[in-house]
Amino acid sequence: MASLFKLTFLGTGGSWPSPGRAMPSIALQVDSIVNLIDCGEGTQKQLMKSQLSFMDIDNVFISHFHGDHFLGLLGLVQSMSFNDRQKPLNIFCPEMGSRILSNALSVGYYRLNFDIIVREIEPGQTYDLGEFEFSAMKTDHPVPAYAYRFREKDLVRIDRAKVDELGVPDRIIETIRRNGTAEHGGKTYTLDQISGGIRKGRILVYSGDTRPMPEKMSEFARNADVFIHESTTDSSLEPKVNEFGHTSSRQAAEIALKAKVKRLFLFHYSPRVSDLRLLEKEARSIFNESYLSRELLEYSIPFDRSGAANGNP
Ligand SMILES: [Zn+2]
Ligand SMILES: [Zn+2]
Repeated sequence: MASLFKLTFLGTGGSWPSPGRAMPSIALQVDSIVNLIDCGEGTQKQLMKSQLSFMDIDNVFISHFHGDHFLGLLGLVQSMSFNDRQKPLNIFCPEMGSRILSNALSVGYYRLNFDIIVREIEPGQTYDLGEFEFSAMKTDHPVPAYAYRFREKDLVRIDRAKVDELGVPDRIIETIRRNGTAEHGGKTYTLDQISGGIRKGRILVYSGDTRPMPEKMSEFARNADVFIHESTTDSSLEPKVNEFGHTSSRQAAEIALKAKVKRLFLFHYSPRVSDLRLLEKEARSIFNESYLSRELLEYSIPFDRSGAANGNP
């Protein structure tokens, strides 16, 4: 299990950029694995303003192929190539992604030095990426679109007192954790002998773009440590927002409450919304643990509320 499970919001706007708001993109670090969730226009510049390097990205998860969620890939990939990237880049996406990306990423003259592995994801399946696993759910949007659920693997805690009592050498502990057993000095040690219980992995759920899906989304986001739900405007524009396949801050908060998540981040604000405090106020009146995401906000997801790191909002 990872010790780092950290978000960096790179862009939080929707539709088109404005001077103070970048297009949707969130970095999720799981220890040394750097994941990008959506990659709107300008994401590479936002990465340069953050603590992360655009060269370190391992996996990109695209929620859907509306331009505000993927156009940043074109520039990002070309910059990676300029900087002599060698390691492959994985892109996970909804159906039709292979065709759309093979067209989009062949725009202009440049030479690709590394492999891009595009994988169209099946909703409902769980995919194992080593330190964590993820699954997708189809959302209610005018084009094929996914919400993603990322789950860190559970970890067996090691009980130091038991280790000392049995005289288990430190250097074989990771082997025992991994294989369930290890031999040393003619003795066999098992995980049960040194286990101090299970530490549950942390969960992040990202809605992508969607109309409100109170039943399905709250089931998909059940008990998440962090739930990032799109919140295009406040409730005064709800009929229009819903008509175009989006959700209001009021509706996002109701889903968060129903899902029993620990914390909600509002995300994907319409460029027409200038005062975000209204969205936060509205969401908090329903679900108290509602927060605004904003450009370059970092949040290390704690194991529980009491373990929140300093500097977290
Ligand atoms: Zn969008
Ligand atoms: Zn969209």
